[in-house]
Amino acid sequence: MKKKNNPITILIPLLAVLVIITAVVIKLILPKETDRPADPADAQYQDSQPQTPNENPEVAEPNPPEVQEPQQTPNNTETPAKPNETEKPKQEPKPETPDQNEPKPEENQKSFPGGEWSTILCNPDYALPAGYHETVKLAPVQGDYQMDYRAAPAMKAMIAAAKNDGIDLLICSTYRTTAYQRQLYENRINIVMGEDPSLSYDEAAEVAATINAVPGTSEHETGLAADIVTPEYQRLNENFDQTDAYRWLKEHCKEYGFILRYPKEKTAITKIIYEPWHYRFVGTEHSYKIMDQNLTYEEYVGKAD
Ligand SMILES: [Zn+2]
Repeated sequence: MKKKNNPITILIPLLAVLVIITAVVIKLILPKETDRPADPADAQYQDSQPQTPNENPEVAEPNPPEVQEPQQTPNNTETPAKPNETEKPKQEPKPETPDQNEPKPEENQKSFPGGEWSTILCNPDYALPAGYHETVKLAPVQGDYQMDYRAAPAMKAMIAAAKNDGIDLLICSTYRTTAYQRQLYENRINIVMGEDPSLSYDEAAEVAATINAVPGTSEHETGLAADIVTPEYQRLNENFDQTDAYRWLKEHCKEYGFILRYPKEKTAITKIIYEPWHYRFVGTEHSYKIMDQNLTYEEYVGKAD
């Protein structure tokens, strides 16, 4: 009897131990399995940035914020820009005037080549004129992203041409309201202050402005600019310039009237960090000259400091 009982009395504790080990192993493995797969939206944030939305330089927005209304049907795209109630972004009933501590706005806009909608200068020193946003009419370019209806066809043509060459261009930011730009800018100030608590608010604001433009001065507010990445590399950082998508854009954007707006060696002129992902529509009559001569738009229009 004793000999027969022995294996059982040993087996029971053994089984119990096995069950416990299995339970522990499952617990260790489970959290990994429930981790969600890399969210494409997350991937668009810079390495060094926390995951809070809207904190990137030139944030990659999963959805274009604050522009919920499809504002322009393709049929309307040929009609001249006319301010119209239905075309205002929802959350911006009133045109925003630039912040007080901030760049001078206004006038300036007529002296540029042609003095047209496509040649407006919008930079840290030249804010958009008050009421500009009232005139912006949008048309879709990719997914929910919209641009000025007059630049949108060029963007769509560029995306299609790239596709033909085997390059996927992925838009991650286009038109922004001033309210949204303000949100980005203020988020950035907080990040900068978090990174260097010794900075005063004004000092932090100065740094922030080189990454997220001061409200009223971002080209995204014109509807003429887009941040473009590629599915394989969705981060908004300098290394985007190592991608085939960038190489294609650098070579071909001018053919569609776009320019690389913030080149690497010209940050002292643009006052904006190097942004290999940011493209601005100016029209082909200007884009060739600007890209071929490696100019910033400030230099081209004679407004470089
Ligand atoms: Zn941008």
